[in-house]
Amino acid sequence: MSTLEIRDLHVAVEDKEILRGVNLTVKSGETHAIMGPNGSGKSTLAYAIAGHPKYTITGGQVLLDGVDLLELSVDERARAGLFLAMQYPVEVPGVSVSNFLRSAVTSVRGEAPKLREFAKDLKNGMDALAIDAAFAQRNLNEGFSGGEKKRHEILQLELLKPKIAVLDETDSGLDVDALRVVSEGINRFRASGETGVLLITHYTRILRYVKPDFVHVFAAGKIVEEGGPELADKLESEGYEQYTKASA
Ligand code: ADP
Ligand code: MG
Ligand code: MG
Repeated sequence: MSTLEIRDLHVAVEDKEILRGVNLTVKSGETHAIMGPNGSGKSTLAYAIAGHPKYTITGGQVLLDGVDLLELSVDERARAGLFLAMQYPVEVPGVSVSNFLRSAVTSVRGEAPKLREFAKDLKNGMDALAIDAAFAQRNLNEGFSGGEKKRHEILQLELLKPKIAVLDETDSGLDVDALRVVSEGINRFRASGETGVLLITHYTRILRYVKPDFVHVFAAGKIVEEGGPELADKLESEGYEQYTKASA
């Protein structure tokens, strides 16, 4: 049982305050959707939790099982059990998907997985996500299609088994078939009940496949409304205008 606790988090980018006091608690087995208009600070929350150097914490705390993540390096955060799937993953020429995943697993576990065991886990994960075997030998993120990037994120989840997974716009750029495969992957993964999922999305589409337990609406760097899955339905019909007006 793990708990991520975000307490009164304030974050600035280049001296501009973006997050203005975010409070959120995510426990293993729970799926929280963070929704909101473009520019409301959803990705900023993800980057700040992950420790991206551009995002300055100006106040508040982020605790994972009582450990202050903000005191840890990016690697240490991953080792503590945090996983972040980036909206715009970087290309790494010369590093294959397979090598990248094996070093990621090594880094998180603190020891290298046995080659044979890793190869088996990798194959199972790729099969489950309908990823072609040749994918493992490709250069990391180089020329990946939207669907390949997202499948690769879910593959990382399955191999790394984090305590808390932050998925930023996992649904963007996916056609319906890819969305279904990725959603099934998330559902398979969260069925273990051992991971808390923070699903960040502008659109309600993925929430038809991955039912959140809680929905939080972001506007202008704050959570302005919270509820259950029915809140996503309301947003689908009414949009975000009510919130952007209120916070403008
Ligand atoms: P969302 O993910 O909800 O669309 P973001 O967190 O990406 O919102 O952006 C929130 C605000 O912070 C925007 O006004 C954006 O311009 C600004 N911002 C975010 N990241 C950066 C950055 N790296 N450099 C400059 N401004 C940024
Ligand atoms: Mg954005
Ligand atoms: Mg974003």
